[in-house]
Amino acid sequence: MDNYILILVCIIGLCFGSFFNVVILRSLSGESIVFPASKCPKCGHKLYPWHNIPVISYIFLRGKCHFCKEKISIQYPVIELVTMILFGAAYLKFGLSIDTIFAIILLSGLIIMTGTDIKEKLVDCNIAIALAALGVIFSYLRVGNVTDSLLGILAGGLIIETLAHLGLLFPPKTRIMGEADTYVTGALGAYFGLKGICIVFIYSVMASMVLALPVYLYDRYKNNDKLTCILFVLFALAIVVYKAAFQNWITVGIVGIIGVLLSISIMKNIKNEGGRTYLPFVPALAAGTIYFMFF
Ligand SMILES: [Zn+2]
Repeated sequence: MDNYILILVCIIGLCFGSFFNVVILRSLSGESIVFPASKCPKCGHKLYPWHNIPVISYIFLRGKCHFCKEKISIQYPVIELVTMILFGAAYLKFGLSIDTIFAIILLSGLIIMTGTDIKEKLVDCNIAIALAALGVIFSYLRVGNVTDSLLGILAGGLIIETLAHLGLLFPPKTRIMGEADTYVTGALGAYFGLKGICIVFIYSVMASMVLALPVYLYDRYKNNDKLTCILFVLFALAIVVYKAAFQNWITVGIVGIIGVLLSISIMKNIKNEGGRTYLPFVPALAAGTIYFMFF
């Protein structure tokens, strides 16, 4: 019986993931989320119903539009699979309970906001506000009062605002975190309370460090700065070679030289762009939340 419910939850997750793709795509362009029917963003051809089956259609269409053969973004199957996995994990963790419902709502909001943050560096703060309100209700249902939940909102918001304003102390004197980060962290505080949000924040900072590297390299790649990317790959290879096989002064020297070149290349770019390589923090908050929730 449990397995049947799990399969059902996973299928629901796939369908919701499919819907979240549309929300991520259209909430930013201002188009209606329900109408019009889904169409290819390239050729505008209306899609047949069997082009809309989560993941399966992507595989059968081999990642291309049926009509114009334009590549379909990998975002679609990725969001569908991530949603399925998270819904399934929530059910496995909390069982048939109100906890699962609220976990699924929170995770859904985070998936959408993470998607728009990565895609457009924009987050709809209304989603965070709605999540905060639901978080307060959830706390009331679970522990009978909302004090800890409200303190969590306050703490979450204050942590990010304090950090954001640190940027005003140094040139170029701008906020170093977006306003959306404040809203999202506040919303998480509503769910996890005072102590919980502090832990989630620490996890998120660690996650942002892990996420920062590939995001940074992708940014460099997109800006046609192949040199930094190549140097990074060489640096990683040199370390692997050093660790795995040859631990002598030649390999140490090579690691050192490539390391210095890589540092120079990175520093030069930071100077060129006034030090603002943008790192979305919402994905890190989502990762921190998932870790806190499940591990
Ligand atoms: Zn097309």
